[in-house]
Amino acid sequence: AVTLKNCSLSFDTVPVLNNVNLDVYKNEFLTILGPSGCGKSTLLRLMLNLLQPDKGGEVIFGSDSPSLGMVFQKPVLMPWLTAIKNIELSLSLGTNKKMFSKKEAREKAEGALQLVGLQDFKNHYPHQLSGGMQQRIAIARALAADPTVLLMDEPFGALDEFTREKLNFELLRLWESAETSLSTVVMVTHSIHESVMMSDRVVMMSPRPTGVVDIIPVPLPRPREVGMEDHPEFSR
Ligand code: ATP
Ligand code: MG
Repeated sequence: AVTLKNCSLSFDTVPVLNNVNLDVYKNEFLTILGPSGCGKSTLLRLMLNLLQPDKGGEVIFGSDSPSLGMVFQKPVLMPWLTAIKNIELSLSLGTNKKMFSKKEAREKAEGALQLVGLQDFKNHYPHQLSGGMQQRIAIARALAADPTVLLMDEPFGALDEFTREKLNFELLRLWESAETSLSTVVMVTHSIHESVMMSDRVVMMSPRPTGVVDIIPVPLPRPREVGMEDHPEFSR
């Protein structure tokens, strides 16, 4: 879906990405791990075309230009709109391929709020919600539009373990479900547990300040595809 070829990017004179090569394949669940400040958010912005590389080329989502969903590291909500209106607004903006009628938008927004467990807070304004709740609204907003590609920057970082685990499973369910369009997920996370549990492939970014960023794809078997009964340690 996305190809980055020898991409380099500096902020002023400080190199952040140095000759990065990365392919994101259609239908994969990719997680990106790496220490704070190594350039993960920058890499996502590059994939979203919000930044251009100084050097190197990128093919963004090829010619099939899917509908994109994005969850930023900090939730970006309109403070003057209630939770549900924030979601409805994004559905009506037409940034995605699909256009929704008012009634459809309301139904989709309600469904997405239910998914993140905030249906009882739909008429609250962002300042009346905790940071984690605001983040869940941002996640609901991204999912409501039924994207084919979802890019998420530490989406569950601000959440408690229970909510995080629950949303992890909801996300996997959506990704596997034939009823949604969701096919490709790129997720930045600081949790190795989450990374192993969720993804087909893990990309490790090495720390700066050398300015050299190596991307090492780490293939992992998805645990739920390997039945515990088949595991050598357990098949006695
Ligand atoms: P974290 O895990 O803390 O979110 P990250 O891996 O997402 O970190 P980035 O936000 O991509 O890191 O930042 C990478 C580097 O680029 C940092 O050193 C940061 O200071 C620098 N940087 C990011 N955005 C800008 C900017 N707009 N202007 C100047 N420097 C920037
Ligand atoms: Mg970041």
